[in-house]
Amino acid sequence: MRVIIAGGGIGGLVAALSLHAAGIDCEVFEQSPEIRPLGVGINVLPHAMRELTELGLQERVCAAGIVTQELAYANRFGQIIWSEPRGRLAGYTWPQVSIHRGRLHLLLLEVARERLGDARIHLGARLAGTTEDAAGVTVRFEDGRSARGEVLVAADGIHSTARTRFYPEEGPPKWNGAILWRATSIAAPVLTGATMAVIGNRDEKFVVYPIADLPDGRKLTNWIAERRVDPNQEWKREDWNRPGRIEDFFDWFKDWRYDWLDVPALIRSAQSVFEFPMVDRDPLPRWTHGRVTLLGDAAHPLYPIGSNGSSQAILDARTLALHLATQDDPVAALHAYEAIRRPATAALLEATRGDGPDVVLDIAESRAPDGFADIEAVMPMNERVEIATHYKRLAGFEPATLNARPSLSPPRRAA
Ligand SMILES: Cc1cc2nc3c(=O)[nH]c(=O)nc-3n(C[C@H](O)[C@H](O)[C@H](O)COP(=O)(O)OP(=O)(O)OC[C@H]3O[C@@H](n4cnc5c(N)ncnc54)[C@H](O)[C@@H]3O)c2cc1C
Repeated sequence: MRVIIAGGGIGGLVAALSLHAAGIDCEVFEQSPEIRPLGVGINVLPHAMRELTELGLQERVCAAGIVTQELAYANRFGQIIWSEPRGRLAGYTWPQVSIHRGRLHLLLLEVARERLGDARIHLGARLAGTTEDAAGVTVRFEDGRSARGEVLVAADGIHSTARTRFYPEEGPPKWNGAILWRATSIAAPVLTGATMAVIGNRDEKFVVYPIADLPDGRKLTNWIAERRVDPNQEWKREDWNRPGRIEDFFDWFKDWRYDWLDVPALIRSAQSVFEFPMVDRDPLPRWTHGRVTLLGDAAHPLYPIGSNGSSQAILDARTLALHLATQDDPVAALHAYEAIRRPATAALLEATRGDGPDVVLDIAESRAPDGFADIEAVMPMNERVEIATHYKRLAGFEPATLNARPSLSPPRRAA
C-alpha cells in the first residue's frame, strides 16, 4: 500500500513516521520550498508524548524543549487560583513538553528524512487536485508533479486545499473577536522554572511558559498576550507569521507586575512579535470523501486554548496509521479513523469555545473581580478540581485512563 500525504507540518510528518513504522510506504508533499523553524511555543501533552515516545522520539523531544512541571492559573492581580503538577509529576507515564514549534517541526523533518529517506519528502509541492479510480488516487500538485497512492491524507493546515474542495461554501475560519500577540523573550525562570502560567480572564489574558534552557540559567520564554477587540472590525487573514506591534497591546498589560512575574518587562524584551486572530472552524459532517481524508488542522482547527492543537494532530496521525496498518481495505480504514477522531475533536472544539480549562479564570473573575483573600471562599477546591479533570477527560489525557489504554502502535507488516 502507498499513502500520499499533502502537508508536511506536525500532523503530516507524524503520520509519515507512524506509517513508516507500521511498514506502509508513504510520501509527503509539502507546499513550502524550504522548511524553516517557524512559530513560537507549543505544548506536547502526555497523550501526544506517549505517541512520540512510541516512535522513539521522547529523548530528542525532551532535549529540544522543557519538561513541563506545573500549570498555574492566576487572576490579573497575580493571585494564584489553581495550580497542578504536569506530566510525570501528575502520575502520567509520559512527560509533557513545552517546545518551540519550529524546533519540533525541524526535528520531525530530520527524523522523517533519516527513516523514510529524502526521496520520500517533497518540498515546493502544493496540492492542486485529485482524480480517483477503483484502484487508487492520482494527486496533482501545482508545479505539474503528480503522485499515485491508494489514499490521500490531507494534512494541509487551517487553509486546507482539500477541505475547501469538499466544502467550497465554508469560507474563512471563524474569528471570536480575540487577538493573540505571540512572542519569545529571554527571561529569568518563572515559579518552578518549568511552569506554564495562564493569567487574567477570557477578555484579557496572558500566557507564559519556558520552551528552552539557556546556558546562563535563563529561559527562552514563550508568551501570548490575548485581548478581545471590537468583533465587527475587519480582521486580516490569519497567518502564523504576520509581525505584530507591541504598542498595539502594551498598555492593557502595563500594570501586570507581580512578585513572581513582570509582564510588561517580558513584553518589552520580546525578540519579535506575531499577531494571530483567535480562529477555528465549525466541526465537519465528514472528513473522508472517497480515497481522501483530512487530518490535523485541516480537519479540526481549534483555538489555542488548553494546549491541544499539535497534540490532537499527533493523535489523528497515530490513529490513522493504526487503522491503515490493520485493515485490508484502505478506504474502510479512513472511515474507521474518522469514526474515532471526528467526534473526539468536535467535543474538544466545543470545550475550547467555552474557554476550555481556562474557564476557571472567568469564574474567579466573576465572583471576585477585585481579587480575593482566600481562593477557597471564592471557588472551593472540589470545583477547581472538577474543571481541570473534566477537560482532561474530554481531551483524552486523564492520567489513569491514558496510562491504561492500549497502544496505538500497530503490529509491523510487510510493505
Ligand atoms: C508556519 C506555522 C507556524 C505556526 N506556529 C504556531 C505557534 O506558534 N503556536 C501554535 O499553537 N500553533 C502554531 N502553528 C499551528 C500548529 O502547527 C498546528 O495547529 C498544529 O501543529 C496542527 O498541525 P497540522 O500539521 O495539522 O498543521 P500545520 O502544522 O499548520 O501544517 C500544515 C502544513 O501543510 C502545508 N500546506 C498547506 N497547504 C498545502 C497544500 N495545498 N499542499 C501541500 N502542503 C500544504 C503547510 O505549509 C504546513 O507545513 C503554526 C503553523 C504553521 C504552518
